[in-house]
Amino acid sequence: MNVRVRFAPSPTGYLHIGGVRTALFNWLYARHTGGMFVLRIEDTDVARNTEQSLRTILDGLKWLGLDWDEGPEKGGPFGPYFQSQRVDIYKRRVQELMDKGMAYERNGAIRFKMTRQPIEIPDIICGGVVRSLNETEALDPDFVIVRSDGNPVFHFVNVVDDIEMRITHVIRGEDHLSNTTKHIALFRAFGVELPKYAHIPMILNLDGTKMSKRDPDPGKARLASLASYGEDGFIAEAVRNYLCLLGWSPKDGKEIRPIEEIVAMFDLPQILRHNAKFDITKLTWMNGEYIRTMSLEKFLPLAKTFVSGRDDPKVIALVKDKIKLLKELPDWTNYFFVDDYIFDPVAVAKACNTQQTSDRLLKLASVYDLVSVWDAASLETALKTQSVALGVKAGELIHPCRVAVSGKSTGPSLYHMLETLGRERVLSRLRRAAEKFRV
Ligand code: GLU
Repeated sequence: MNVRVRFAPSPTGYLHIGGVRTALFNWLYARHTGGMFVLRIEDTDVARNTEQSLRTILDGLKWLGLDWDEGPEKGGPFGPYFQSQRVDIYKRRVQELMDKGMAYERNGAIRFKMTRQPIEIPDIICGGVVRSLNETEALDPDFVIVRSDGNPVFHFVNVVDDIEMRITHVIRGEDHLSNTTKHIALFRAFGVELPKYAHIPMILNLDGTKMSKRDPDPGKARLASLASYGEDGFIAEAVRNYLCLLGWSPKDGKEIRPIEEIVAMFDLPQILRHNAKFDITKLTWMNGEYIRTMSLEKFLPLAKTFVSGRDDPKVIALVKDKIKLLKELPDWTNYFFVDDYIFDPVAVAKACNTQQTSDRLLKLASVYDLVSVWDAASLETALKTQSVALGVKAGELIHPCRVAVSGKSTGPSLYHMLETLGRERVLSRLRRAAEKFRV
């Protein structure tokens, strides 16, 4: 069978992280099977659709590298891929059900003759779920497929398009499981084979609440929308890798791996049945790992957008392996570009707190003044020799020196940082700090 899957977002708001994971699982399955990944825009709710939202969806999928084979900007044999442009198809399909006696008009709306029998949903992930009409449905089982204003409803257009677009597998959020009986009844009414269903469990916050951009906690609200990840300095590959692990896991337990390997291993029956929890700490750690293993060449253009003009490759190379998020870059590199950086008071109190510290900084400055080759190795040797001469541990020079030249207690390798700052700046900063923090 030639697998055809689809991601069918409604462009009515932001791109929810759960929706992204749904798109990702569809994409993984298509790539794993050599099938087709279709992007269909479910924009029948004219009042709520926005151009902006459509852009967000397309940009988000592109950012993550989830390329679609058919859909907007791409076309394909079963288009158009915007439901708003498929009105004639829906009209024809409504007529078909009317002709078969499966639909009828009441109060201006068109209703579907729903079966009264329980329906079994064969689901690859959830198993066989049997559903009967619930109490409200039982009172009036025949649901509306075309409203009195002439607009067809979600259940109807969704099924018609899955038929028209030859979708073989419906992979979507578990929140749609309750709609599926209606969908199955419609498929049957059209006399076509059912697609295979795979309803994937939800992604929740660590505390078990729903992820939502409207969460009153701004931190949690940010996690719900894909767009914020790029802004916060996450690497697309890291986000994608992490999302793969929400509901699926590789048998060998190796979580960080190239997407090609995940594509090769991914399959629907392995998807876990319980809800996944979104752990931003783990994703942030993973992002740091991706940054560390990324080549400088690949990292530089990503870094550039976060440091507005201050993109000296030497400086970025120094801090690359230290940061977890791109947005940390300005803070980590600021003192390479300005002299009036802020001194962290805690660092100063810890490392530059005695008469001796000032004296040692001055000594170090005079030693560094005489170093013949200004490179990390010579600077290290000179500092260590000086600490022996003073009869103090190397740390007694290293920590005050770091605070003096950067204002911070942490940073890249000290000697490489001094090398990059250059002799002139290092000497003047050491002398300035000796004065500034003289007790
Ligand atoms: N437009 C629906 C949604 O965004 C699609 C549901 C489906 O995948 O069938 O939830």
